[in-house]
Amino acid sequence: MLRNETYIGKARYNSTKSIVPVHPIKKEKYKRIKKTSRMIRPKEEWLYAPVPAIISEELYNSARAKLENNLKFSARRKKYEYLLTGLVKCTCGRNCAGEAAQGGKHLYYRCADRIYSYPLKPTCKQPPINARVVDTLVWQGVSKFMSDDSLLKEQAALWCERNTDRSNYDSHIINNIRGDLDKAKNEEERYVKAYGAGMLSLEQLQQHVQGVKAKISSFEAQLGDKGSQLKDLQATAPEESEIDNFALLAKQTLLDLSFESKKAILQNVVDKVVATQKEVLIYGYLPIEENIDVALCSIHRNHRPPKCRQIHTL
Ligand SMILES: [Zn+2]
Repeated sequence: MLRNETYIGKARYNSTKSIVPVHPIKKEKYKRIKKTSRMIRPKEEWLYAPVPAIISEELYNSARAKLENNLKFSARRKKYEYLLTGLVKCTCGRNCAGEAAQGGKHLYYRCADRIYSYPLKPTCKQPPINARVVDTLVWQGVSKFMSDDSLLKEQAALWCERNTDRSNYDSHIINNIRGDLDKAKNEEERYVKAYGAGMLSLEQLQQHVQGVKAKISSFEAQLGDKGSQLKDLQATAPEESEIDNFALLAKQTLLDLSFESKKAILQNVVDKVVATQKEVLIYGYLPIEENIDVALCSIHRNHRPPKCRQIHTL
C-alpha cells in the first residue's frame, strides 16, 4: 500500500513486458514458452486507469518520503557511527560513503565513484577525508550559525530577496500558461460550434477535440505544479523577534548534545556537505518558528519559513 499507486486512484498497466530470461534458473534446451521473465518498461510508456482512491495523495507522498528517508538514514547494519550519514558529497557530484581503516581507528568519507564505476577504473581522484574532522567542523559551523542572530537576520533578508525575484518570475510564467489554457478552451469551443453548424463530421470533431483536450490537461497540470511552487515561495519572512528567540534557544540547547541529537538536527537542516581536504561547504535550510524544540528536532526542512545559507570553514 505504501508503494502502490493504485491506492491513490492510479491503476497502472503496460508497465512491464515479458522477455527471455537473461539468467534462467533451469537451463533446458527446449522451452515451449520462451519469454518467461518480465522487465519494467520505461515510465513514459506506462498507462494509467482511474480507480477509486482509498488514501489521499498527500498521505501517500509523505509515506513514500518517509520510506526513502528510512532507507537513506537507516541505523541498521552500521558498524561505525558517522555524524553526516548520506549528506556528504564529493566535488565530482557523487555521494561520499563512510569508510573505516585499521578496524575503525580512523574513519573517512570517501567518494563512491569507484563503487559506481566498477569494474572500470574510477575517474574521481579526490582523496578520502577524515570523518571526525569534517563532523566537528560541520557541527561547529551549523551550531554557531544557529545561535548567531545577526548572521541569521542577514541570511533571512537574502532569502526573502531571492524568493521575491523567483516568485515574480513564476507569476509571469503562470500568467502565460493561463493565457495558453484560455486559448485551448476557446479552440475546443470553436470546434463544437463548427460541429453544431454542420461544418464538421462527428469523426472530425472527435479527432480535433482529442488533441485540444490533451493540451488543456497538460496546461492544467503545469498550472498546479507552478501554483504550489509559488505558494512555497510566498511563505512569510520570519520576524526579528522570532529570529532572536530562535538564536537564544539554540545557544542554550546546542551546547551539550548527544551524538544522536546532533545527528538528528543535522539530518534535518543540512541538505548536503561538499568537503575536500581544504574546504567544507555546507548547504541547507533552517526552519525558524516560535517555540521550536531544537534539541528534539521536531522541525522539518519543508516547514515555514526556511533560509538558505552557505558556510565556509577551513
Ligand atoms: Zn568524487
